[in-house]
Amino acid sequence: MQSFDVVIAGGAVMGSSVAYHLLTEPAFRGRVLVVEPDPTYRRSASALSAASIRQQFSTAVNIRISLYGIAFLRGAGEHLAVDGERPEIGLKEGGYLYVADPAGAAILAGNRALQKAEGADIALLDAAGLAQRFPWLRTDDLACGTFGRSGEGWFDGWGLLQALRRKARALGAEYRAGAVTEIERDGDRIASVTLADATRIPCGALVNCAGAGGAALAALAGIALPVEAKRRSVFSFACRERLDGVPLVVDTTGVWFRPEGDGFISGVSPQAGEDDPDWDTDDPATQEVDWPLFEERIWPALAGRVPAFEAVRPGRAWAGPYDMCRLDHNAVVGRAGGLANFYLCNGFSGHGLQQAPAVGRGLAELVVHGRFTSLDLSDLGYERVIAGRPLLERNVI
Ligand SMILES: Cc1cc2nc3c(=O)[nH]c(=O)nc-3n(C[C@H](O)[C@H](O)[C@H](O)COP(=O)(O)OP(=O)(O)OC[C@H]3O[C@@H](n4cnc5c(N)ncnc54)[C@H](O)[C@@H]3O)c2cc1C
Repeated sequence: MQSFDVVIAGGAVMGSSVAYHLLTEPAFRGRVLVVEPDPTYRRSASALSAASIRQQFSTAVNIRISLYGIAFLRGAGEHLAVDGERPEIGLKEGGYLYVADPAGAAILAGNRALQKAEGADIALLDAAGLAQRFPWLRTDDLACGTFGRSGEGWFDGWGLLQALRRKARALGAEYRAGAVTEIERDGDRIASVTLADATRIPCGALVNCAGAGGAALAALAGIALPVEAKRRSVFSFACRERLDGVPLVVDTTGVWFRPEGDGFISGVSPQAGEDDPDWDTDDPATQEVDWPLFEERIWPALAGRVPAFEAVRPGRAWAGPYDMCRLDHNAVVGRAGGLANFYLCNGFSGHGLQQAPAVGRGLAELVVHGRFTSLDLSDLGYERVIAGRPLLERNVI
């Protein structure tokens, strides 16, 4: 029977980032196994993401995570090169633009003050400034907007996942096709995992990077995780008129859009009280695109905010799972309460791709040193779940 120092359940962007960061930790000498049931990643959030990165969060820890994230993405070609071959992740620093009406202006300005204090390059523009900087934008109902002049944008999420995976393998991580279906505990420690094909693998530590399957995996170890998978749809569309310098815009309606290739992609999350259907990994019917959403919610908001979007040509669309943390829409990262060697990397609530570099590094530090040695991620720890103490993130899209 083969044993591993660290088993990582889930081999998409988080699992691969944890593996990569473990194997680049100078003090780590162990063997790493990444267990992933679907090496095509067809249903993994990492492959279905809008793959954008922003500094415009309302909690300090998320801003710090994204500041490291953008630095990592800028240098990805270098960090993740294998045999001199540099991966291309197509980073475009086009910025995010959050806009606010008079009712939302104070919140936006407050968030921006925190972002600035943390070192993010976010400008506050009044309505006249917005109209001048973004002439294609309707601004008559707006009070202000915040715009990331650098450090925000979008990239090839699939490319990042593949580059992290390839590099982790080159550094010695073993990837195995399979799902963790049982976890054996020995007192306050995880002793082994068992895969669907009944292979038992003793392990020194277990990291839960199972995305939409994260709560079910944690339950196998007796840990209750308030994370549920929610369906989110992304719609592409084309516009006849040429618009220059479009960032990722987050409208007052919650609808977002950004350039993608020659056109745009867009989406929206349900507002409080609206229907928010679950994504069931085993039920394809729950994974269908919510087609009426574009016609009923998104297109009216697009046309209301950008006159040129009154005439758009809808294109393809896809749906993917948000692993939504019910407590506060923030990730749960760190050791699972009461268990000495079980680590959680779950509940990214729609912003996990950009968080993969910092969270992967943090978890590697925790496994190797027993504490965070670079960026302190303890605000995201499981302790807040046990205490029922939310770390509220206001900017969830
Ligand atoms: C439509 C959409 C848009 C998004 N837009 C953005 C964005 O713009 N910016 C951003 O930062 N984030 C975005 N996200 C979120 C981001 O994609 C996720 O937070 C991130 O990809 C999570 O990575 P992960 O590795 O934790 O999960 P996943 O990519 O879902 O991977 C989890 C893996 O675990 C495997 N697994 C499940 N159960 C088990 C088990 N029992 N044993 C072993 N393996 C298992 C699965 O097969 C899967 O491959 C978006 C997500 C969606 C769906």
